[in-house]
Amino acid sequence: MGEQLKIACGVFGAINFEKQPIFPFIYWGLRAQNHRGHQSHGFLTYDDGKFHIHRSLDLIPKIKTSAIQEWFGRLPGHVGIGNVRYTTSGKCDEKSLIKGTQPVTASKNGFKLAVSFNGNVVNTFQLKKEICKEFPSFSYECDSELICHKLLIELMKNKNLTSAVKTCMQEIEGAFSVAGITKDGKLFAFRDPCGIRPLCAGHSEDRTTYAFSSETVGLDINSFQRDFEIEPGELVTVSKDGFNKEKLLNGSRAFCAFEYAYFARPDSRFDEKYVYEVREEFGRNLVRENHDIVKNADIIISLPETGDDAAMGVHEESSLRWERASRRHRYVTERAFILLNKERYATIDRKINILASKVNGKRVIVTEDSIVRGDTTKVVIEKLRRMGTKKVYLFVTFPRIIGPCFYGIDMATYGQLIGSKHTAEEIAEIIGADAVCYQSIENLVKATGFTRDQLCLACVTGRYPTPLAQKIADEMKKRFLEGYEETGRLYEIEEAVQNI
Ligand code: SF4
Repeated sequence: MGEQLKIACGVFGAINFEKQPIFPFIYWGLRAQNHRGHQSHGFLTYDDGKFHIHRSLDLIPKIKTSAIQEWFGRLPGHVGIGNVRYTTSGKCDEKSLIKGTQPVTASKNGFKLAVSFNGNVVNTFQLKKEICKEFPSFSYECDSELICHKLLIELMKNKNLTSAVKTCMQEIEGAFSVAGITKDGKLFAFRDPCGIRPLCAGHSEDRTTYAFSSETVGLDINSFQRDFEIEPGELVTVSKDGFNKEKLLNGSRAFCAFEYAYFARPDSRFDEKYVYEVREEFGRNLVRENHDIVKNADIIISLPETGDDAAMGVHEESSLRWERASRRHRYVTERAFILLNKERYATIDRKINILASKVNGKRVIVTEDSIVRGDTTKVVIEKLRRMGTKKVYLFVTFPRIIGPCFYGIDMATYGQLIGSKHTAEEIAEIIGADAVCYQSIENLVKATGFTRDQLCLACVTGRYPTPLAQKIADEMKKRFLEGYEETGRLYEIEEAVQNI
């Protein structure tokens, strides 16, 4: 369950070469990925030289059969892209959210472009300055605007798509997985040189439709076959004959390890492994690393829903009974972080129900994906205590988070992270657990199938895969330790970035 952290976005793009309407594929590809962002959503199709756009706040709505023709009319064409978004950059008021909804477009002097993006740009000020020279009224609402305008500027220099994208990869720092459409209706996709956020490609059985998706579930829901993950620093275009891949930059891969612990759907695959299998292994690792605690425990419960997958691994490795004694109220979806403190507490308390007779008098292992602020976990532990639980051992699959993320997860400051100032023992005391056991970084890495240098682990190690992010993190940490109040994302404060 984590703490209702949000990822930046989910991306989907598709093209059909038999001129079939593309909208249904985009719609379903994004419905399957609504967990990646539910503040806003958008669809964009290309037809006869024109972009057609629908953008709105909140979750993607259900569409009544009677309304389908109207949607087809609003979004015609055989090529399209779409996006689900949660903001990790820009402003968060309603007006800004609407403005920042993706996909975005840019146009000038007969050039035009549409993009849908997942990630976060770190060198925003440098890019904004450059873009404002060409587009004096440029108003920055989200990072996708930066990517779209930067790419358009490079195309306007009469570069072809390949060299324009290559310049973007060289000059934009951060995480960016992008799907886009050119002014001629060509679909393309590319990924930053570290490949921090996911992006995969697939096709329909009859090979008339080709698609890009943040997660494989976006392909599965359309009954598409997954072909490959787009490589870090790779541009992929599509023609009737299939995909064309161009490796433009050789960066070192740094795929976000947190995707495995929390964000991605368990039925998505990165490379060949289902996220669910990796999470099960996380659970087994926690048992191997904590034999003494396991010996003294009676049952396992999980914090729904991302703790469920690891609980299966804990159960298999320990042979302890996994009681499905914690349940989530499916339709209580208020986001705790927007509410007042008192209300926030009650909201967390309302979200999870526990079967008292299953935990009363028991020594319980609770599986959890991560601890960020610690407040959600604290509320659940208090609830368990009220129900007579004798011991609470927290097994946490993601190692202790000690630093912020600049690559698309809303962990922006040191101050909000309980792990940035407290050890596991201190955290146990604060949240009322008998022990907090984090999975080791080494075992997490092994379970993913990647090597340590192929993953981004910056928020648990303090080592960032890109240079400006490292400088910002170091400066933020210095200020934090000196007692400065953190007012938000430092990389969004111009004066702070200029002085780094
Ligand atoms: S800093 Fe953490 S959450 Fe952010 S990309 Fe790296 S591993 Fe993922």
